[in-house]
Amino acid sequence: MKSIQQIGLILFLMAFALFNALMFMGKFEVTQGKLDKFTESKGIKSEVFIEQSKELIGEYSFSLDLSEKLLTIAEASHTHHRKVITEFESTGVDKELINAEWGKVIWLKETKKHGNFAAPLVAICGTGFVVENKGLLFSLTFLLGILGGLLHVLPRLKTEGPAGIKNDGIFQNQATNRGWIAWLVFGYLIAFYLALYFFPDVLTNMIYVLDPVSTSLNGGPASQWFLYGFMYCSFMVVMGIKMMIKYRHNKYQVIRSISVLFFQLGFAFLIPELLVRFQKPWFDFKSAWPLNYSAFDNWSIKKILGFDFFETWDFNALIHSDTLGLFMLVWGFILTLVIVPVMVYFYGKRWYCSWVCGCGGLAETVGDPYRQHSDKSLKAWKFERVIIYSVLLFAIIMTYGSLSREQFFLGLDYEAFITIETDDLRFWYGFAVGSIFSGVIGTGFYPIFGNRVWCRFGCPLAAYMGIIQRFKSRFRITTNGAQCISCGNCSTYCEQGIDVRAYAQKGENIVRSSCVGCGICSAVCPRGVLKLENGPEEGRITENPIDITMATEDEGKTSELRKIIIGEQKNLTDFNK
Ligand code: SF4
Ligand code: SF4
Repeated sequence: MKSIQQIGLILFLMAFALFNALMFMGKFEVTQGKLDKFTESKGIKSEVFIEQSKELIGEYSFSLDLSEKLLTIAEASHTHHRKVITEFESTGVDKELINAEWGKVIWLKETKKHGNFAAPLVAICGTGFVVENKGLLFSLTFLLGILGGLLHVLPRLKTEGPAGIKNDGIFQNQATNRGWIAWLVFGYLIAFYLALYFFPDVLTNMIYVLDPVSTSLNGGPASQWFLYGFMYCSFMVVMGIKMMIKYRHNKYQVIRSISVLFFQLGFAFLIPELLVRFQKPWFDFKSAWPLNYSAFDNWSIKKILGFDFFETWDFNALIHSDTLGLFMLVWGFILTLVIVPVMVYFYGKRWYCSWVCGCGGLAETVGDPYRQHSDKSLKAWKFERVIIYSVLLFAIIMTYGSLSREQFFLGLDYEAFITIETDDLRFWYGFAVGSIFSGVIGTGFYPIFGNRVWCRFGCPLAAYMGIIQRFKSRFRITTNGAQCISCGNCSTYCEQGIDVRAYAQKGENIVRSSCVGCGICSAVCPRGVLKLENGPEEGRITENPIDITMATEDEGKTSELRKIIIGEQKNLTDFNK
Protein backbone atom coordinates (compact mmCIF):
# COMPACT_ATOMS: atom_id res chain seq x y z
CA MET A 1 0.00 0.00 0.00
CA LYS A 2 2.83 2.35 0.87
CA SER A 3 4.39 1.84 -2.55
CA ILE A 4 1.07 2.62 -4.27
CA GLN A 5 0.99 5.84 -2.29
CA GLN A 6 4.53 6.65 -3.34
CA ILE A 7 3.75 5.94 -6.99
CA GLY A 8 0.73 8.23 -6.64
CA LEU A 9 2.87 10.98 -5.21
CA ILE A 10 5.44 10.63 -7.99
CA LEU A 11 2.72 10.75 -10.67
CA PHE A 12 1.21 13.83 -9.06
CA LEU A 13 4.56 15.60 -8.86
CA MET A 14 5.34 14.74 -12.49
CA ALA A 15 1.97 16.11 -13.63
CA PHE A 16 2.45 19.20 -11.48
CA ALA A 17 5.94 19.82 -12.88
CA LEU A 18 4.66 19.51 -16.45
CA PHE A 19 1.74 21.82 -15.66
CA ASN A 20 4.15 24.53 -14.56
CA ALA A 21 6.55 23.86 -17.40
CA LEU A 22 3.70 24.62 -19.81
CA MET A 23 4.37 28.27 -19.13
CA PHE A 24 7.63 28.00 -21.06
CA MET A 25 6.41 25.68 -23.81
CA GLY A 26 4.88 26.57 -27.15
CA LYS A 27 5.15 29.86 -28.98
CA PHE A 28 3.16 33.02 -29.57
CA GLU A 29 3.04 34.36 -33.09
CA VAL A 30 1.75 37.85 -33.83
CA THR A 31 0.51 38.57 -37.36
CA GLN A 32 -1.15 41.64 -38.86
CA GLY A 33 -4.43 39.72 -39.05
CA LYS A 34 -4.35 38.96 -35.33
CA LEU A 35 -3.47 42.56 -34.53
CA ASP A 36 -6.42 43.81 -36.59
CA LYS A 37 -8.73 41.39 -34.82
CA PHE A 38 -7.43 42.59 -31.48
CA THR A 39 -7.70 46.34 -32.20
CA GLU A 40 -11.22 45.82 -33.54
CA SER A 41 -12.38 43.81 -30.51
CA LYS A 42 -10.98 46.46 -28.19
CA GLY A 43 -12.42 49.35 -30.20
CA ILE A 44 -9.00 51.01 -30.40
CA LYS A 45 -9.02 54.19 -32.47
CA SER A 46 -5.51 55.44 -31.76
CA GLU A 47 -3.55 55.65 -34.99
CA VAL A 48 -0.38 55.85 -32.89
CA PHE A 49 -1.13 52.49 -31.29
CA ILE A 50 -2.19 50.93 -34.61
CA GLU A 51 1.02 52.07 -36.28
CA GLN A 52 3.38 51.17 -33.44
CA SER A 53 1.74 47.80 -32.78
CA LYS A 54 3.16 46.62 -36.12
CA GLU A 55 6.44 46.30 -34.25
CA LEU A 56 4.84 43.42 -32.38
CA ILE A 57 4.69 41.20 -35.45
CA GLY A 58 6.92 38.20 -34.93
CA GLU A 59 7.37 35.17 -32.68
CA TYR A 60 7.69 35.07 -28.91
CA SER A 61 8.60 32.13 -26.69
CA PHE A 62 7.23 33.58 -23.47
CA SER A 63 3.80 35.20 -23.18
CA LEU A 64 5.02 37.91 -20.83
CA ASP A 65 7.51 39.21 -23.44
CA LEU A 66 4.65 39.85 -25.82
CA SER A 67 2.44 41.42 -23.13
CA GLU A 68 5.14 43.76 -21.90
CA LYS A 69 5.88 45.00 -25.40
CA LEU A 70 2.18 45.49 -26.12
CA LEU A 71 1.62 47.39 -22.87
CA THR A 72 4.61 49.66 -23.54
CA ILE A 73 3.09 50.62 -26.89
CA ALA A 74 -0.35 51.16 -25.35
CA GLU A 75 1.11 53.34 -22.60
CA ALA A 76 3.10 55.37 -25.13
CA SER A 77 -0.05 55.95 -27.18
CA HIS A 78 -1.92 56.97 -24.00
CA THR A 79 0.77 59.52 -23.15
CA HIS A 80 0.77 60.85 -26.71
CA HIS A 81 -2.99 61.46 -26.84
CA ARG A 82 -3.11 62.99 -23.37
CA LYS A 83 -0.36 65.38 -24.43
CA VAL A 84 -2.26 66.31 -27.60
CA ILE A 85 -5.41 66.95 -25.55
CA THR A 86 -3.51 69.24 -23.17
CA GLU A 87 -2.13 71.15 -26.15
CA PHE A 88 -5.56 71.40 -27.79
CA GLU A 89 -7.10 72.64 -24.57
CA SER A 90 -4.45 75.30 -24.08
CA THR A 91 -4.81 76.57 -27.65
CA GLY A 92 -8.60 76.62 -27.56
CA VAL A 93 -9.14 74.10 -30.39
CA ASP A 94 -12.68 73.06 -31.35
CA LYS A 95 -14.41 70.81 -28.74
CA GLU A 96 -15.15 68.13 -31.31
CA LEU A 97 -11.48 67.65 -32.03
CA ILE A 98 -10.74 67.36 -28.33
CA ASN A 99 -13.51 64.80 -27.91
CA ALA A 100 -12.20 62.81 -30.86
CA GLU A 101 -8.79 62.77 -29.21
CA TRP A 102 -10.31 61.58 -25.92
CA GLY A 103 -11.82 58.69 -27.88
CA LYS A 104 -8.32 57.58 -28.86
CA VAL A 105 -6.99 57.36 -25.33
CA ILE A 106 -6.36 53.77 -24.17
CA TRP A 107 -7.16 53.43 -20.50
CA LEU A 108 -5.13 50.91 -18.57
CA LYS A 109 -5.77 50.10 -14.91
CA GLU A 110 -2.52 49.08 -13.29
CA THR A 111 -3.86 45.89 -11.69
CA LYS A 112 -5.94 44.87 -14.69
CA LYS A 113 -3.80 45.77 -17.68
CA HIS A 114 -2.32 42.28 -18.08
CA GLY A 115 -5.68 40.57 -17.66
CA ASN A 116 -8.04 42.88 -19.49
CA PHE A 117 -5.77 44.30 -22.15
CA ALA A 118 -2.80 42.03 -22.88
CA ALA A 119 -4.27 38.57 -22.21
CA PRO A 120 -6.82 38.66 -25.09
CA LEU A 121 -4.07 39.29 -27.66
CA VAL A 122 -1.78 36.66 -26.15
CA ALA A 123 -4.69 34.19 -26.19
CA ILE A 124 -5.19 34.45 -29.96
CA CYS A 125 -1.48 34.22 -30.74
CA GLY A 126 -0.64 30.78 -29.37
CA THR A 127 1.03 28.39 -31.79
CA GLY A 128 3.20 25.27 -31.76
CA PHE A 129 3.34 22.27 -29.44
CA VAL A 130 0.85 23.33 -26.75
CA VAL A 131 -2.00 24.43 -29.00
CA GLU A 132 -1.46 21.42 -31.24
CA ASN A 133 -1.54 18.91 -28.38
CA LYS A 134 -4.19 20.17 -25.98
CA GLY A 135 -5.79 16.76 -25.40
CA LEU A 136 -2.48 15.01 -24.74
CA LEU A 137 -1.29 17.73 -22.38
CA PHE A 138 -4.64 17.75 -20.57
CA SER A 139 -4.20 14.02 -19.91
CA LEU A 140 -0.59 14.40 -18.80
CA THR A 141 -1.28 17.29 -16.44
CA PHE A 142 -4.81 17.30 -15.05
CA LEU A 143 -5.82 13.66 -15.50
CA LEU A 144 -2.46 12.28 -14.40
CA GLY A 145 -2.40 14.67 -11.45
CA ILE A 146 -5.86 13.60 -10.30
CA LEU A 147 -4.95 9.92 -10.75
CA GLY A 148 -1.73 10.42 -8.76
CA GLY A 149 -3.63 12.24 -6.03
CA LEU A 150 -6.19 9.45 -5.75
CA LEU A 151 -3.50 6.75 -5.67
CA HIS A 152 -1.84 8.66 -2.85
CA VAL A 153 -5.02 9.16 -0.89
CA LEU A 154 -7.11 6.00 -1.30
CA PRO A 155 -4.67 3.52 0.32
CA ARG A 156 -5.08 5.52 3.55
CA LEU A 157 -8.15 3.40 4.13
CA LYS A 158 -5.75 0.59 4.92
CA THR A 159 -2.54 2.37 5.95
CA GLU A 160 -4.21 4.55 8.56
CA GLY A 161 -5.63 1.57 10.44
CA PRO A 162 -9.11 1.46 11.96
CA ALA A 163 -11.45 4.45 11.87
CA GLY A 164 -10.81 7.03 14.59
CA ILE A 165 -9.01 10.27 15.35
CA LYS A 166 -6.09 10.59 12.92
CA ASN A 167 -3.90 13.51 13.85
CA ASP A 168 -0.69 11.74 14.81
CA GLY A 169 2.51 13.39 13.72
CA ILE A 170 0.94 16.62 12.47
CA PHE A 171 3.42 18.70 14.45
CA GLN A 172 6.36 16.62 13.28
CA ASN A 173 5.60 16.93 9.60
CA GLN A 174 7.38 19.52 7.43
CA ALA A 175 4.19 19.99 5.41
CA THR A 176 1.83 20.58 8.29
CA ASN A 177 4.02 22.29 10.87
CA ARG A 178 5.23 25.29 8.92
CA GLY A 179 8.31 23.39 7.79
CA TRP A 180 10.08 23.85 4.47
CA ILE A 181 7.37 22.00 2.52
CA ALA A 182 4.71 24.31 3.95
CA TRP A 183 6.73 27.39 2.99
CA LEU A 184 7.23 26.00 -0.50
CA VAL A 185 3.48 25.42 -0.90
CA PHE A 186 2.83 28.88 0.52
CA GLY A 187 5.22 30.50 -1.99
CA TYR A 188 3.67 28.60 -4.89
CA LEU A 189 0.09 29.45 -3.89
CA ILE A 190 0.89 33.14 -3.52
CA ALA A 191 2.64 33.21 -6.90
CA PHE A 192 -0.25 31.34 -8.53
CA TYR A 193 -2.91 33.66 -7.10
CA LEU A 194 -0.95 36.75 -8.10
CA ALA A 195 -0.66 35.38 -11.62
CA LEU A 196 -4.35 34.45 -11.71
CA TYR A 197 -5.58 37.87 -10.61
CA PHE A 198 -2.99 40.21 -12.05
CA PHE A 199 -0.95 38.36 -14.73
CA PRO A 200 -3.29 35.81 -16.34
CA ASP A 201 -1.37 36.22 -19.61
CA VAL A 202 1.40 34.17 -17.97
CA LEU A 203 -1.05 31.27 -17.61
CA THR A 204 -2.12 31.25 -21.26
CA ASN A 205 -0.62 27.84 -22.09
CA MET A 206 -2.22 26.26 -19.00
CA ILE A 207 -5.54 27.73 -20.10
CA TYR A 208 -5.18 26.31 -23.66
CA VAL A 209 -4.90 22.82 -22.23
CA LEU A 210 -8.42 23.11 -20.83
CA ASP A 211 -9.97 24.31 -24.09
CA PRO A 212 -11.42 20.87 -24.98
CA VAL A 213 -13.17 20.61 -21.59
CA SER A 214 -14.37 24.18 -21.73
CA THR A 215 -15.72 23.80 -25.27
CA SER A 216 -17.64 20.68 -24.33
CA LEU A 217 -19.23 22.47 -21.36
CA ASN A 218 -19.82 26.07 -22.34
CA GLY A 219 -19.15 25.96 -26.06
CA GLY A 220 -16.18 28.35 -25.94
CA PRO A 221 -12.45 28.35 -25.18
CA ALA A 222 -11.22 28.27 -21.59
CA SER A 223 -10.47 31.42 -19.61
CA GLN A 224 -8.36 32.05 -16.54
CA TRP A 225 -11.51 31.59 -14.43
CA PHE A 226 -12.30 28.29 -16.09
CA LEU A 227 -8.77 27.14 -15.27
CA TYR A 228 -9.22 28.25 -11.69
CA GLY A 229 -12.64 26.60 -11.38
CA PHE A 230 -11.39 23.32 -12.82
CA MET A 231 -8.33 23.24 -10.56
CA TYR A 232 -10.47 24.22 -7.57
CA CYS A 233 -12.86 21.34 -8.20
CA SER A 234 -10.09 18.80 -8.90
CA PHE A 235 -8.23 19.60 -5.69
CA MET A 236 -11.45 19.59 -3.73
CA VAL A 237 -12.45 16.15 -5.01
CA VAL A 238 -9.11 14.51 -4.18
CA MET A 239 -8.74 16.21 -0.80
CA GLY A 240 -12.45 15.72 -0.06
CA ILE A 241 -11.94 11.97 -0.44
CA LYS A 242 -8.92 12.21 1.86
CA MET A 243 -11.06 14.11 4.37
CA MET A 244 -13.78 11.46 4.27
CA ILE A 245 -11.24 8.69 4.85
CA LYS A 246 -9.63 10.57 7.72
CA TYR A 247 -12.87 11.36 9.51
CA ARG A 248 -14.80 8.23 8.54
CA HIS A 249 -15.53 7.56 12.21
CA ASN A 250 -17.75 10.63 12.18
CA LYS A 251 -20.89 10.55 10.01
CA TYR A 252 -21.31 14.34 10.22
CA GLN A 253 -17.93 14.88 8.54
CA VAL A 254 -18.56 12.37 5.78
CA ILE A 255 -21.98 13.79 4.83
CA ARG A 256 -20.70 17.36 5.12
CA SER A 257 -17.80 16.60 2.76
CA ILE A 258 -20.17 15.07 0.20
CA SER A 259 -22.36 18.16 0.52
CA VAL A 260 -19.58 20.70 -0.16
CA LEU A 261 -18.38 18.66 -3.12
CA PHE A 262 -21.90 18.50 -4.51
CA PHE A 263 -22.43 22.25 -4.24
CA GLN A 264 -19.01 23.11 -5.62
CA LEU A 265 -19.13 20.76 -8.60
CA GLY A 266 -22.79 21.31 -9.39
CA PHE A 267 -23.69 24.85 -8.39
CA ALA A 268 -20.38 26.68 -8.64
CA PHE A 269 -18.97 24.92 -11.69
CA LEU A 270 -21.24 22.85 -13.93
CA ILE A 271 -24.50 24.84 -13.80
CA PRO A 272 -22.85 28.26 -14.44
CA GLU A 273 -20.85 26.82 -17.35
CA LEU A 274 -23.95 25.23 -18.87
CA LEU A 275 -25.81 28.53 -18.50
CA VAL A 276 -23.12 30.15 -20.62
CA ARG A 277 -23.61 27.43 -23.24
CA PHE A 278 -27.25 28.50 -23.52
CA GLN A 279 -26.27 32.18 -23.83
CA LYS A 280 -27.27 33.00 -20.27
CA PRO A 281 -25.09 34.88 -17.80
CA TRP A 282 -22.66 32.90 -15.64
CA PHE A 283 -24.48 32.60 -12.33
CA ASP A 284 -23.77 30.81 -9.07
CA PHE A 285 -27.17 30.26 -7.48
CA LYS A 286 -25.73 29.57 -4.05
CA SER A 287 -23.61 32.68 -3.79
CA ALA A 288 -25.43 35.14 -1.54
CA TRP A 289 -24.85 38.82 -0.98
CA PRO A 290 -22.58 40.25 0.46
CA LEU A 291 -20.13 37.46 -0.38
CA ASN A 292 -21.26 37.94 -3.95
CA TYR A 293 -21.00 41.71 -3.82
CA SER A 294 -22.17 42.16 -7.38
CA ALA A 295 -25.40 40.22 -6.76
CA PHE A 296 -27.53 43.32 -7.19
CA ASP A 297 -25.50 45.11 -9.82
CA ASN A 298 -28.32 44.74 -12.30
CA TRP A 299 -30.90 45.82 -9.81
CA SER A 300 -33.11 47.33 -12.40
CA ILE A 301 -36.18 45.63 -13.74
CA LYS A 302 -35.84 47.72 -16.87
CA LYS A 303 -32.35 46.48 -17.49
CA ILE A 304 -33.26 42.86 -16.89
CA LEU A 305 -36.45 42.78 -18.87
CA GLY A 306 -35.22 45.08 -21.57
CA PHE A 307 -38.21 47.46 -21.25
CA ASP A 308 -39.73 49.76 -18.69
CA PHE A 309 -42.31 47.64 -16.94
CA PHE A 310 -43.89 50.50 -15.05
CA GLU A 311 -44.30 52.68 -18.07
CA THR A 312 -45.67 50.12 -20.47
CA TRP A 313 -47.31 47.62 -18.13
CA ASP A 314 -46.98 45.21 -20.98
CA PHE A 315 -47.58 41.69 -19.76
CA ASN A 316 -46.98 40.29 -23.18
CA ALA A 317 -43.51 41.72 -23.14
CA LEU A 318 -43.01 40.40 -19.63
CA ILE A 319 -43.88 36.89 -20.72
CA HIS A 320 -41.50 37.06 -23.65
CA SER A 321 -38.70 38.72 -21.76
CA ASP A 322 -35.77 37.06 -20.08
CA THR A 323 -37.53 35.39 -17.19
CA LEU A 324 -34.32 33.69 -16.08
CA GLY A 325 -32.77 37.13 -15.55
CA LEU A 326 -35.72 38.15 -13.45
CA PHE A 327 -35.57 34.90 -11.52
CA MET A 328 -31.86 35.47 -10.79
CA LEU A 329 -32.60 38.90 -9.41
CA VAL A 330 -35.51 37.75 -7.24
CA TRP A 331 -33.58 34.67 -6.13
CA GLY A 332 -30.66 36.90 -5.03
CA PHE A 333 -33.01 38.81 -2.76
CA ILE A 334 -34.79 35.76 -1.39
CA LEU A 335 -31.50 33.97 -0.72
CA THR A 336 -29.97 36.92 1.11
CA LEU A 337 -32.95 38.27 2.98
CA VAL A 338 -35.02 35.16 3.67
CA ILE A 339 -33.22 31.85 3.20
CA VAL A 340 -29.91 32.83 4.80
CA PRO A 341 -31.34 34.34 8.03
CA VAL A 342 -34.04 31.68 8.45
CA MET A 343 -31.57 28.84 7.97
CA VAL A 344 -29.07 30.47 10.35
CA TYR A 345 -31.83 30.77 12.91
CA PHE A 346 -32.58 27.06 12.72
CA TYR A 347 -29.14 25.58 12.07
CA GLY A 348 -26.53 28.27 12.70
CA LYS A 349 -24.21 29.48 9.96
CA ARG A 350 -22.86 25.96 9.54
CA TRP A 351 -25.56 25.20 6.96
CA TYR A 352 -23.78 27.62 4.62
CA CYS A 353 -20.15 27.88 5.78
CA SER A 354 -19.60 24.18 6.26
CA TRP A 355 -22.13 22.53 3.95
CA VAL A 356 -22.64 24.79 0.92
CA CYS A 357 -20.01 27.52 0.44
CA GLY A 358 -17.20 27.02 -2.06
CA CYS A 359 -14.63 28.94 0.04
CA GLY A 360 -15.63 26.88 3.07
CA GLY A 361 -15.52 23.74 0.95
CA LEU A 362 -11.96 24.41 -0.15
CA ALA A 363 -10.95 25.26 3.41
CA GLU A 364 -12.47 22.05 4.74
CA THR A 365 -10.91 19.76 2.16
CA VAL A 366 -7.68 21.22 0.75
CA GLY A 367 -7.12 23.23 3.92
CA ASP A 368 -7.80 20.43 6.40
CA PRO A 369 -4.10 19.61 7.01
CA TYR A 370 -3.55 23.20 8.18
CA ARG A 371 -6.47 23.82 10.53
CA GLN A 372 -4.21 23.69 13.60
CA HIS A 373 -2.50 26.95 12.61
CA SER A 374 -5.42 29.20 13.50
CA ASP A 375 -4.46 31.77 16.11
CA LYS A 376 -6.31 31.18 19.40
CA SER A 377 -5.11 34.30 21.19
CA LEU A 378 -7.45 36.95 22.56
CA LYS A 379 -5.65 39.49 20.37
CA ALA A 380 -6.61 37.51 17.26
CA TRP A 381 -10.24 37.37 18.44
CA LYS A 382 -10.31 41.16 18.86
CA PHE A 383 -8.62 41.67 15.48
CA GLU A 384 -11.12 39.30 13.87
CA ARG A 385 -14.10 41.33 15.09
CA VAL A 386 -12.70 44.64 13.89
CA ILE A 387 -11.65 43.38 10.46
CA ILE A 388 -14.64 41.24 9.53
CA TYR A 389 -17.24 43.87 10.45
CA SER A 390 -15.21 46.52 8.63
CA VAL A 391 -15.36 44.42 5.47
CA LEU A 392 -19.12 44.00 5.95
CA LEU A 393 -19.52 47.75 6.29
CA PHE A 394 -17.40 48.30 3.19
CA ALA A 395 -19.61 45.87 1.24
CA ILE A 396 -22.81 47.57 2.44
CA ILE A 397 -21.59 51.04 1.45
CA MET A 398 -20.48 49.77 -1.93
CA THR A 399 -23.77 48.00 -2.60
CA TYR A 400 -25.73 51.08 -1.63
CA GLY A 401 -23.55 53.06 -4.01
CA SER A 402 -24.23 50.61 -6.83
CA LEU A 403 -27.98 50.66 -6.23
CA SER A 404 -28.01 54.42 -6.16
CA ARG A 405 -26.81 54.44 -9.76
CA GLU A 406 -29.51 52.13 -10.99
CA GLN A 407 -33.12 52.77 -11.73
CA PHE A 408 -34.99 51.43 -8.75
CA PHE A 409 -37.74 49.00 -9.61
CA LEU A 410 -40.55 50.83 -7.92
CA GLY A 411 -39.74 53.87 -9.95
CA LEU A 412 -38.21 55.73 -7.03
CA ASP A 413 -36.03 58.55 -8.15
CA TYR A 414 -32.64 57.92 -6.73
CA GLU A 415 -31.50 61.39 -7.55
CA ALA A 416 -33.33 62.32 -4.39
CA PHE A 417 -31.03 60.16 -2.31
CA ILE A 418 -27.39 60.57 -1.60
CA THR A 419 -25.51 58.88 -4.38
CA ILE A 420 -22.05 57.55 -3.99
CA GLU A 421 -19.56 57.29 -6.79
CA THR A 422 -18.88 53.58 -6.73
CA ASP A 423 -16.48 52.90 -9.56
CA ASP A 424 -13.40 53.60 -7.46
CA LEU A 425 -14.96 51.99 -4.41
CA ARG A 426 -15.74 48.86 -6.37
CA PHE A 427 -12.27 48.78 -7.84
CA TRP A 428 -10.63 48.96 -4.43
CA TYR A 429 -13.05 46.46 -2.92
CA GLY A 430 -12.44 44.07 -5.82
CA PHE A 431 -8.70 44.54 -5.51
CA ALA A 432 -8.24 44.56 -1.75
CA VAL A 433 -11.03 42.24 -0.64
CA GLY A 434 -11.96 40.18 -3.72
CA SER A 435 -8.44 39.46 -4.95
CA ILE A 436 -5.87 40.04 -2.20
CA PHE A 437 -7.86 39.08 0.90
CA SER A 438 -10.07 36.24 -0.30
CA GLY A 439 -7.63 34.81 -2.85
CA VAL A 440 -4.00 35.58 -2.20
CA ILE A 441 -4.21 35.71 1.61
CA GLY A 442 -7.35 33.60 2.09
CA THR A 443 -6.02 30.56 0.30
CA GLY A 444 -2.33 31.29 -0.22
CA PHE A 445 -1.78 31.55 3.52
CA TYR A 446 -3.37 28.14 4.33
CA PRO A 447 -0.03 26.45 5.11
CA ILE A 448 1.04 29.20 7.52
CA PHE A 449 -2.03 30.82 9.09
CA GLY A 450 -4.55 28.02 8.76
CA ASN A 451 -7.40 27.24 6.44
CA ARG A 452 -10.08 29.74 7.36
CA VAL A 453 -8.25 33.07 7.27
CA TRP A 454 -10.79 34.52 4.82
CA CYS A 455 -13.86 32.99 6.52
CA ARG A 456 -12.73 34.16 9.94
CA PHE A 457 -11.34 37.60 9.22
CA GLY A 458 -12.75 38.71 5.90
CA CYS A 459 -15.99 37.16 4.65
CA PRO A 460 -18.82 39.71 4.90
CA LEU A 461 -21.46 36.99 4.55
CA ALA A 462 -19.93 35.15 7.51
CA ALA A 463 -20.09 38.42 9.46
CA TYR A 464 -23.79 38.87 8.60
CA MET A 465 -24.62 35.28 9.54
CA GLY A 466 -22.43 35.50 12.63
CA ILE A 467 -24.55 38.30 14.08
CA ILE A 468 -27.70 36.18 13.67
CA GLN A 469 -25.97 33.09 15.02
CA ARG A 470 -24.80 34.88 18.12
CA PHE A 471 -28.07 36.56 19.04
CA LYS A 472 -30.96 34.76 17.36
CA SER A 473 -30.30 31.13 16.58
CA ARG A 474 -31.11 27.66 17.85
CA PHE A 475 -27.55 26.47 17.20
CA ARG A 476 -25.06 25.83 19.97
CA ILE A 477 -22.27 23.41 20.83
CA THR A 478 -23.04 21.88 24.18
CA THR A 479 -20.18 20.82 26.41
CA ASN A 480 -20.32 17.99 28.88
CA GLY A 481 -17.52 19.49 30.94
CA ALA A 482 -17.31 16.73 33.51
CA GLN A 483 -15.98 14.40 30.83
CA CYS A 484 -13.25 16.75 29.61
CA ILE A 485 -9.69 15.60 30.17
CA SER A 486 -8.20 18.87 28.93
CA CYS A 487 -6.32 17.22 26.11
CA GLY A 488 -6.83 20.37 24.01
CA ASN A 489 -7.54 18.51 20.76
CA CYS A 490 -10.68 20.60 20.21
CA SER A 491 -8.90 23.94 20.54
CA THR A 492 -5.94 22.78 18.48
CA TYR A 493 -8.07 21.76 15.50
CA CYS A 494 -10.65 24.54 15.66
CA GLU A 495 -10.03 26.33 12.39
CA GLN A 496 -11.78 29.46 13.64
CA GLY A 497 -9.34 29.94 16.50
CA ILE A 498 -11.92 29.29 19.22
CA ASP A 499 -10.47 28.03 22.47
CA VAL A 500 -13.06 25.26 22.69
CA ARG A 501 -11.36 23.62 25.66
CA ALA A 502 -11.89 26.72 27.79
CA TYR A 503 -15.65 26.45 27.17
CA ALA A 504 -15.61 22.71 27.79
CA GLN A 505 -13.87 23.14 31.10
CA LYS A 506 -16.53 25.57 32.24
CA GLY A 507 -19.36 23.48 30.87
CA GLU A 508 -20.37 26.50 28.84
CA ASN A 509 -22.27 26.28 25.56
CA ILE A 510 -20.39 27.62 22.55
CA VAL A 511 -22.44 30.23 20.68
CA ARG A 512 -19.59 32.22 19.16
CA SER A 513 -20.46 34.17 16.03
CA SER A 514 -17.33 32.92 14.28
CA CYS A 515 -18.07 29.21 14.79
CA VAL A 516 -18.75 27.70 11.36
CA GLY A 517 -20.09 24.49 12.83
CA CYS A 518 -17.53 22.35 11.04
CA GLY A 519 -17.83 19.87 13.90
CA ILE A 520 -14.13 19.00 13.87
CA CYS A 521 -13.78 19.89 17.57
CA SER A 522 -16.37 17.23 18.28
CA ALA A 523 -14.85 14.76 15.81
CA VAL A 524 -11.41 14.94 17.45
CA CYS A 525 -12.59 14.94 21.06
CA PRO A 526 -11.63 11.60 22.58
CA ARG A 527 -14.26 11.92 25.33
CA GLY A 528 -17.40 12.86 23.44
CA VAL A 529 -17.62 16.15 25.32
CA LEU A 530 -18.86 18.32 22.48
CA LYS A 531 -22.13 18.09 20.64
CA LEU A 532 -23.43 20.33 17.85
CA GLU A 533 -27.11 20.91 18.54
CA ASN A 534 -30.11 22.91 17.41
CA GLY A 535 -32.61 23.46 20.18
CA PRO A 536 -34.79 25.98 21.95
CA GLU A 537 -33.29 29.43 22.36
CA GLU A 538 -34.01 29.33 26.06
CA GLY A 539 -30.94 28.37 28.07
CA ARG A 540 -28.79 28.43 24.95
CA ILE A 541 -26.45 31.07 26.29
CA THR A 542 -25.09 29.79 29.58
CA GLU A 543 -24.53 32.99 31.52
CA ASN A 544 -22.88 31.57 34.64
CA PRO A 545 -21.06 28.46 33.63
CA ILE A 546 -19.31 26.41 36.22
CA ASP A 547 -15.56 26.08 36.26
CA ILE A 548 -15.54 22.34 36.28
CA THR A 549 -12.01 22.20 37.64
CA MET A 550 -13.33 23.58 40.94
CA ALA A 551 -15.50 20.60 41.57
CA THR A 552 -13.68 17.62 40.20
CA GLU A 553 -12.60 16.38 43.62
CA ASP A 554 -16.05 15.34 44.60
CA GLU A 555 -18.13 14.35 41.59
CA GLY A 556 -21.22 14.05 43.76
CA LYS A 557 -21.14 17.69 44.72
CA THR A 558 -20.69 19.06 41.22
CA SER A 559 -24.34 19.43 40.50
CA GLU A 560 -24.92 21.08 43.88
CA LEU A 561 -22.19 23.61 43.25
CA ARG A 562 -23.70 24.32 39.83
CA LYS A 563 -27.04 24.97 41.48
CA ILE A 564 -25.45 27.57 43.74
CA ILE A 565 -23.74 29.28 40.86
CA ILE A 566 -26.82 29.48 38.72
CA GLY A 567 -28.81 30.69 41.74
CA GLU A 568 -31.08 27.69 42.32
CA GLN A 569 -29.53 27.00 45.73
CA LYS A 570 -28.88 29.81 48.16
CA ASN A 571 -25.49 29.28 49.76
CA LEU A 572 -22.60 27.05 50.58
CA THR A 573 -24.19 25.98 53.86
CA ASP A 574 -26.76 24.06 51.84
CA PHE A 575 -23.94 22.69 49.75
CA ASN A 576 -22.01 21.43 52.79
CA LYS A 577 -24.98 19.66 54.39
S1 SF4 B 1 -15.87 25.49 17.58
FE1 SF4 B 1 -15.87 23.47 16.63
S2 SF4 B 1 -17.50 23.53 15.12
FE2 SF4 B 1 -17.02 25.66 15.66
S3 SF4 B 1 -15.51 26.27 14.15
FE3 SF4 B 1 -14.37 25.53 15.92
S4 SF4 B 1 -13.98 23.36 15.42
FE4 SF4 B 1 -15.60 24.05 14.04
S1 SF4 C 1 -13.45 18.91 25.10
FE1 SF4 C 1 -12.62 16.96 24.38
S2 SF4 C 1 -11.04 17.53 22.94
FE2 SF4 C 1 -11.53 19.38 24.12
S3 SF4 C 1 -10.04 19.37 25.77
FE3 SF4 C 1 -11.86 18.35 26.54
S4 SF4 C 1 -11.50 16.18 26.15
FE4 SF4 C 1 -10.02 17.30 24.90
